[in-house]
Amino acid sequence: MLAPKPKDWIMAIAPYIPGRSSVDGGAKAVKLSSNENALGTSPKAIAAFAAHSTDLARYPDASATELREAIAAKYDLEPERIIYGTGSDEILHLIAGAYAGQGDEVIHVRYGFAVYEIATRRVGALPVIARDKDYATDVDAILACMTSKTRVVFIANPNNPTGTFTSRAEIARLHANLPNRVMLVIDQAYAEFLDAEDDDGALDLARTAPNVIVTRTFSKIHGLAAERIGWGYGSAEAIAAMHRIRAPFCCTIAGQAAAIAAVQDDAWVEKTREHNRVWRAWFAEEIGKLSAASLRVVPSEANFVLVLFEGALSAEAAYTQLMERGYIVRWLPGQGLANGLRITIGTEDETRGVAAALRDIVAGV
Ligand code: PMP
Repeated sequence: MLAPKPKDWIMAIAPYIPGRSSVDGGAKAVKLSSNENALGTSPKAIAAFAAHSTDLARYPDASATELREAIAAKYDLEPERIIYGTGSDEILHLIAGAYAGQGDEVIHVRYGFAVYEIATRRVGALPVIARDKDYATDVDAILACMTSKTRVVFIANPNNPTGTFTSRAEIARLHANLPNRVMLVIDQAYAEFLDAEDDDGALDLARTAPNVIVTRTFSKIHGLAAERIGWGYGSAEAIAAMHRIRAPFCCTIAGQAAAIAAVQDDAWVEKTREHNRVWRAWFAEEIGKLSAASLRVVPSEANFVLVLFEGALSAEAAYTQLMERGYIVRWLPGQGLANGLRITIGTEDETRGVAAALRDIVAGV
């Protein structure tokens, strides 16, 4: 029987594969596969959420006024220039929807966040892949991909899944060399994990340049992944364009309340950043000791590290054996990273545990 046919460019999309949340058989496992906050959610955010958890009959504030004001106060931004969405995933889709379409090109790096390609293909545009520089973002490679059809460039800083950081000078150089008609999107999902001196200047650029949009999320350092709230900052014109296609009531009442409390809880953010700094360094050092087995850690500024397997032990075998030991990490063959595992920095016990498990697996090869 004849059935409606989806668009060709939709069928060209490889579906997003989320990090697993359980091991085969359902045994208790440590989830280090989705870069969530190891310490959980700010108690103040949980209290704010709880206070609104029965507000279910009415629609939320479609303008997210208080949330925008809280974000603006925290980062010294204009509230009218803040967009919000169902996770920053939605913001990425809004940007592609507003600025790209059939016949257009959208650039992202080779080891980039999977949603850039999905958002690009969804609107019928073509993803163009810039090569990396030993897993890090290569500004020259991005610039080399520019054509008259380029409409958007997506970069993440720090980058996921590599954890690498692009300096303020390099971001400025990228922007300076892009034509004004190209929208530069700087995805800062992990920016709060950076040390203060590592500010990449993205928000400063977005304050002044009409062709820069910064995206942020409440899913990572703020520990609110379940509530699906992200935001973006850009010119008034860009934000107005995105509002035209945004889902009207995209952020729940309890979620908005939790996000407001979270963005105001500097102590929780600081505690998480410090925890992550200490245990990321510890984990990188431990894995560094396995270099004789050709394991290598890509330098990370985020709350995860990419471990490369360049010897007899494959990333796939390590992934399977970690799973058998109750550790769920991320193997990303679909993103061209068949030789690596992305491992989220967990609690102290989880981090010590996954390092010991990897040592054990290496010893058994
Ligand atoms: N950008 C990057 C680089 C990410 O890693 C993620 C989450 N994995 C997101 C955006 C989207 O996060 P969310 O939709 O939860 O805000």
